[in-house]
Amino acid sequence: MRQTAALVGGEAVTSGATINVVDPSTGEVFAETPDCSPAEVANAVVIAQAASIGWRNRSVADRAAIIRRIGHFVLRDLPLLTESEARQTGKPLRQARRDVEITARYFDFYASAIETFGGETIPLNNDTLIYTRWEPHGVTGHIVPWNYPMSIMARSVVPSLAMGNACVLKPAEETPLTALQLGTLAIEAGLPPGVLNIVTGTGEGAGAALVTHPGIGHISFTGSVEVGRSISHAAAERLVPVTMELGGKSPNIVFADADLDRAVPVIVNSILQNAGQTCSAGARLLVHEAVHREMVDRIVSRFAAMVIGPAFEDPDLGPLISAAQRARVHAFVESGRANADVKTGGRMLSGGKFGKGFFYEPTLIDGVDPASSLGQDEIFGPVLAVTTFRTLDEAVELANCTDYGLVAGVWTSDLAKAHRMVQQVVAGQVFVNSYGASGGVEVPFGGFKRSGFGREKGVEGLRGFGQIKTAVVAL
Ligand code: NAD
Repeated sequence: MRQTAALVGGEAVTSGATINVVDPSTGEVFAETPDCSPAEVANAVVIAQAASIGWRNRSVADRAAIIRRIGHFVLRDLPLLTESEARQTGKPLRQARRDVEITARYFDFYASAIETFGGETIPLNNDTLIYTRWEPHGVTGHIVPWNYPMSIMARSVVPSLAMGNACVLKPAEETPLTALQLGTLAIEAGLPPGVLNIVTGTGEGAGAALVTHPGIGHISFTGSVEVGRSISHAAAERLVPVTMELGGKSPNIVFADADLDRAVPVIVNSILQNAGQTCSAGARLLVHEAVHREMVDRIVSRFAAMVIGPAFEDPDLGPLISAAQRARVHAFVESGRANADVKTGGRMLSGGKFGKGFFYEPTLIDGVDPASSLGQDEIFGPVLAVTTFRTLDEAVELANCTDYGLVAGVWTSDLAKAHRMVQQVVAGQVFVNSYGASGGVEVPFGGFKRSGFGREKGVEGLRGFGQIKTAVVAL
């Protein structure tokens, strides 16, 4: 059994209460992590406040050098981090390895980005010098989910550190290990103690204590709409700015003139990567009726050929995160059976090589009513909902008919049609003849509608973690 400690002020801190960490590939507990109390979280914030002053006063070159070095150490420890990420999430080894590489890239990218990021001068008249400068918030709070624990931590924490904030992060209770490893590694790379603190624990306990602490100047939350709403309320009480990276029900929209050879493997990956537990998963297939039959047949045969298994066998598809998540996914599929056509999948897998792991078959459901729960709700599993359309206007209407607006993919060989879709689809990212920009570290990301607000990733991701001060100097 692995025993872990929270990281506060550069020190390993244990707590009386603990939380079990389960390996989703086997269903067995393999680690314990502290369940930090509100008082322990408050202590971390106070320590971060003290550390933030020295950190914001370091030169940009110094901050960038330390951040860049952490990224190098992440790559040095790639095998170790890959192993932990695969074990706690159940994701296949090669996906976990890719997540570590993306994590390292965040450090490299923001080390460079902050070195060329500055304010501007505003030419009002010759008697006045007006300039702006970016300043940190002080201490930023970060709450992250279990699906991409390490890379989402980096996406949120690294631009904040680069901007000169100190951070307190609470990882998801299911996946605390790589956050703690990353925190320890940052200290080794020269990050001053107290600049990055990790408090493990429950959402209602440690998480709520973090987002309501008066010492927090900005909150970055990635997770579900429900929790995002409650954190937004807590932030509104204190008028603290928030970034909300929430859920999605993103479509791939396939026109009759699309290159299907190119589209099919990408669409399959967009829903099966991480067993569908991806905020930007391509969970809906909106397909022109002329190519509907062919698309469904091709995707069904690919789904059926997927190798499913424990993370360490490096299959195509690993387990879901928990028994509860699997039961939730299955309930969605069962609810749709009466009115839609489950073409493949729809079963939980157990016994044999699946043992007590939380495995679920890749599932394609055809003829989904866009107004139904299958067509509207985020399932967060390997379940693709298929609906047909006839015209571009109908495709736009279907694409925009959910409460979400995170990502969309458009598949067509007609350039004008592609750009018209980019204009009309309501989503934070629209891909044309592709889906998901690889790691996407450099590309602004975030939601419209209930998928959230604020942007992370790219240079844009720095802005949320700073605030502009304007100086007006009479000459
Ligand atoms: P969740 O909202 O249940 O939990 C996310 C985090 O919030 C966890 O760390 C949890 O402990 C914490 N939390 C729970 N209640 C809290 C409270 N009252 N106060 C403070 N913190 C609290 O989400 P999840 O099940 O871990 O993740 C799945 C969801 O995350 C999906 O909806 C998915 O779409 C979304 N997600 C979005 C993005 C994005 O970038 N838009 C990325 C990944 C996941």
